[in-house]
Amino acid sequence: MAKYDVAIIGSGPGGYVAAIRCAQLGMKTAIIERYPTLGGTCLNVGCIPSKALLDSSEHFHKAQEQFSEHGIKLKDLEVDMPQMIKRKREVVEQTVGGIDFLMKKNKIDVIHGHGSFKSKNEIVVTPDKGEAQTIEADKIIIATGSKPASLPFIKIDKKRIITSTEALELQKVPKHMIIIGGGVIGLELGSVYARLGAEVTVLEYMDSIIPTMDRTMGKELARSMKKLGVKFLLQHKVKEVTSTSRQVTVKADDKKGEEVTLKGDYCLVSVGRKAYTEGLGLENVGIQTDERGRIEVDEHLRTVAPHIYAIGDVIKGAMLAHKAEEEGMFVAEKIAGQKPHINYLLIPNVVYTWPEVASVGYTEEQLKEKDIDYKSGSFPFKASGRARASMDTDGVIKVLAHKETDEILGVHMCGPRAADMIAEAVVAMEFRASAEDIARMSHAHPTFTEAFKEAALAATDNRALHV
Ligand code: FAD
Ligand code: NAD
Repeated sequence: MAKYDVAIIGSGPGGYVAAIRCAQLGMKTAIIERYPTLGGTCLNVGCIPSKALLDSSEHFHKAQEQFSEHGIKLKDLEVDMPQMIKRKREVVEQTVGGIDFLMKKNKIDVIHGHGSFKSKNEIVVTPDKGEAQTIEADKIIIATGSKPASLPFIKIDKKRIITSTEALELQKVPKHMIIIGGGVIGLELGSVYARLGAEVTVLEYMDSIIPTMDRTMGKELARSMKKLGVKFLLQHKVKEVTSTSRQVTVKADDKKGEEVTLKGDYCLVSVGRKAYTEGLGLENVGIQTDERGRIEVDEHLRTVAPHIYAIGDVIKGAMLAHKAEEEGMFVAEKIAGQKPHINYLLIPNVVYTWPEVASVGYTEEQLKEKDIDYKSGSFPFKASGRARASMDTDGVIKVLAHKETDEILGVHMCGPRAADMIAEAVVAMEFRASAEDIARMSHAHPTFTEAFKEAALAATDNRALHV
């Protein structure tokens, strides 16, 4: 039987990063993956393919809506959906191929098959074809991720009633895509198809889209997405979804309790994801899951069995690739006897719509709830010369700082390249900068980042210069 210092079940961003860090720290490491390709949800059916389609569709949208204003004339512009999907697949292939290379480079054994606990130190790996094998490991990291969640009365048929996985593979632009859930997946994939010409209707249970983010961001993003033609039905409770071979029908109650019926050719169900532990044999090692099916861990990310750890989407916290990666590094370093640390408050959140939404730290709603005295400074992109030059004037940056100490407590951006710009706010908050610290730093002109400096100036005694 093969013996390892560490075995990792699942090769998503949590699992493969943990494997690399374990190998870097001198441990004999194996990684077990049930799918033929490595990289998990993120690389195969999540972050990477969705961003590939977001970029393709944004190019089309800009060509259609903005090029003529830039003085660029185009004839016969059309969408070639099979080619768009082919390019997306190539991006995924290159990316997952890169993980194979990294495993080889770090001398990590990759074992393909479904991993299941036989005993506290033994895992049986059953491939799709061929014989099962048992491996032994001193330490085990569970990184089995998540799967799309649904509502009890919805049967996902994967043809007309679909999840994000199928929505990333459509060969034709839908006529009318009905989206249940105005969270990250619904808005990113809704943007893709709205830009390509589909009618898109989003049904959201809460009174705002992206409701867990700062409320100003939901309002800003809704305003921009409405310009794209996306319809939002907020405070709608979906109660029935049915399909035929060509059509879906969705029934919901609006906030007054009146029934609304929608018909479309696709219904995308994006109401969250659930932890995935099926067939993992947790019962053989006494590991419990919580009420939402997530594996319970302590502050060291250890399960009740002290040599078995769990990371990423399968445990509590934000379901984000970079959160899973941080936890992968954390556990590897813990096993090696180091003293790693994760500041969960400073894990940024990004929505890759256009404008992008990005945030770090507390929202204004959380500060109110915690009774923390704060001040707020905002700067709109319409006042930015750089944004005018690129026709990206939608959105705003908001800086929340402590009323007394001026320490930055939260930064919320809706605007061009917010996904990349939020990194400056993360660094600032990691070093416990004040709003005035940012306001006194030179930001290259003309850049979108000047809007962050201006918002920091606004938070510092209302000193913004360009509004
Ligand atoms: P996963 O990536 O889910 O990987 C788990 C792996 O474990 C899978 O490969 C699975 O096959 C394997 N596995 C499960 N059980 C077993 C078993 N018993 N034996 C062997 N193998 C097993 N996050 C971001 O931060 N940014 C984004 O832009 C982003 N976009 C997304 C877009 C979409 C459409 C979706 C669906 C998700 C997106 N996410 C994004 C979320 C991100 O994909 C997840 O947070 C991340 O993949 C979690 O990583 P993980 O390692 O915990 O699990
Ligand atoms: P989500 O939690 O972001 O959004 C789900 C939305 O559905 C919420 O707004 C919720 O209020 C709504 N909802 C729930 N039940 C409903 C109902 N019955 N009727 C109408 N609306 C309902 O979940 P998601 O968009 O499915 O994404 C899943 C996970 O994947 C998220 O945790 C997210 O972090 C991750 N993800 C991240 C990114 C990114 O980082 N850019 C992109 C895609 C996915």
